Amino acid sequence: MSEQNTVPKAPTDFPAEAVSVVAPKMRFDTLPLDAKLLRAIAESGYETMTPIQAKAIPLVLEGRDVMGAAQTGTGKTAAFSIPLLQKMLAHENASASPARHPVRALVLAPTRELADQVAKNIVTYSEHTKLRAAVVFGGVDMKPQTAELKTGVEVLIATPGRLLDHIEAKNCVLNQVEYVVLDEADRMLDIGFLPDLQRILSFLPKQRQTLLFSATFSPEIKRLAESYLQNPILVEVARPNATATNVEQRFFSVGTDNKRAAVVHLLKDRQISQAIVFVNSKLGCARLARSLERDGLRTNALHGDKSQDERLKALEAFKRGEVDVLVATDVAARGLDIADLPAVINFDVPFNAEDYVHRIGRTGRAGASGLAFTLVTAGDRNDARLASDIEKLIQKKIQLEPLELASERPRRPERTQAYPSEGAVDSARSAPPVPRARPPRDPFFDQPYVPSADAQAAWEKQPASSAKSGLSPNIKPKKKIAALFGARRSDEAPQG
Ligand code: AMP
Repeated sequence: MSEQNTVPKAPTDFPAEAVSVVAPKMRFDTLPLDAKLLRAIAESGYETMTPIQAKAIPLVLEGRDVMGAAQTGTGKTAAFSIPLLQKMLAHENASASPARHPVRALVLAPTRELADQVAKNIVTYSEHTKLRAAVVFGGVDMKPQTAELKTGVEVLIATPGRLLDHIEAKNCVLNQVEYVVLDEADRMLDIGFLPDLQRILSFLPKQRQTLLFSATFSPEIKRLAESYLQNPILVEVARPNATATNVEQRFFSVGTDNKRAAVVHLLKDRQISQAIVFVNSKLGCARLARSLERDGLRTNALHGDKSQDERLKALEAFKRGEVDVLVATDVAARGLDIADLPAVINFDVPFNAEDYVHRIGRTGRAGASGLAFTLVTAGDRNDARLASDIEKLIQKKIQLEPLELASERPRRPERTQAYPSEGAVDSARSAPPVPRARPPRDPFFDQPYVPSADAQAAWEKQPASSAKSGLSPNIKPKKKIAALFGARRSDEAPQG
């Protein structure tokens, strides 16, 4: 792998400002939050604030526009939703009239699953209030969503396409929106959401508070932020584009024909009870899922060709532990919170280095430790280039390790085993099925925010060469132009 350490850069004129130090391990009850919210927070089992919460909540309460750069799993959903709920409590009422419950906060998320997850969190945090929250996303019947919108909701969580459908059908009015949150904001631009996003924002009052959250930030996102946020404060709790510190990352060189065997071997060898296996194409996703299923693993596939109902069911079954392996395309890469997921395996090296950060962010969440294995096809120059892009983005030297596998034997294992003997893997033959190992909690999650001595983020310091173009070396200019014309990746369409 290359030794070069080129970091994705941001324009140096981004209007970020440094934020002051936050006391360590702050409790939620030190904040001016209503008892109803504090009760819901306590019932969620949260004792102290995570670093992003300790930094962002007071700023959001103050009314500032915030651009949050936080690693996945750091509690950013609560970081924006709790202060917004607090502010909306001023309008809390029990009236049955829809007019008394206009949409005041709009949360936009790039995938249906993420929208659903954020909505569930917000419903939990607002449980003891009279504020109403609803989620709308595509792929499911519009009628129940319409009925809910017509009763009036203060917080609306949505994917862009379906929200536009509701706006066009006059099912919701957004002229009283005071707060807008763009979750996983880089994705909003990256896969062609920008035109939809711009249309939605055109329906909103100009005077509003805007919050923008993402684990990764490209220069394009910063430019977007400049145009949509007013005098934003950059809140940063870990170096952007960094991968979770508590995730063990390994890269294995594997022959194309041995990749499936390698997945089974790694699961078995590292006693991994549950994993998401990421692939780059929908076709490859379905094929690998079928193959692992034949190997006796309880497997589900999650990709853009599945109906929304199938996708949600697959995810729920995985969350309940009824499925060992979820084979997924990048529709599952963003923001999804799966408690204690021990491992992520990249069956394919992602085409976009930033997707690597998001994929492996599915493990090691809420401070637990996790495993992230990437299979790099031996002798494949394309894979080597993609791995090199990852190396540059995460600023960590990648050691490509060989993976010892015996040659494949055409034997089908017993379906009753949790991790069946894999003919191609020697060590897999003798070992018994293993129970789900809960990874230990990582101290990172409890760490207070410590601002860097240098207020400028690492990715804002750019060498003259990339500063000229203003583009990350990992983001090709043509992609942005394509995005502006509404182009989508072949594998994945924006969610409506
Ligand atoms: P998020 O980054 O918003 O997806 O959150 C990741 C996980 O952390 C979720 O399971 C949250 O329920 C959990 N979480 C959020 N805030 C806290 C907190 N202050 N203490 C403990 N867990 C939290």
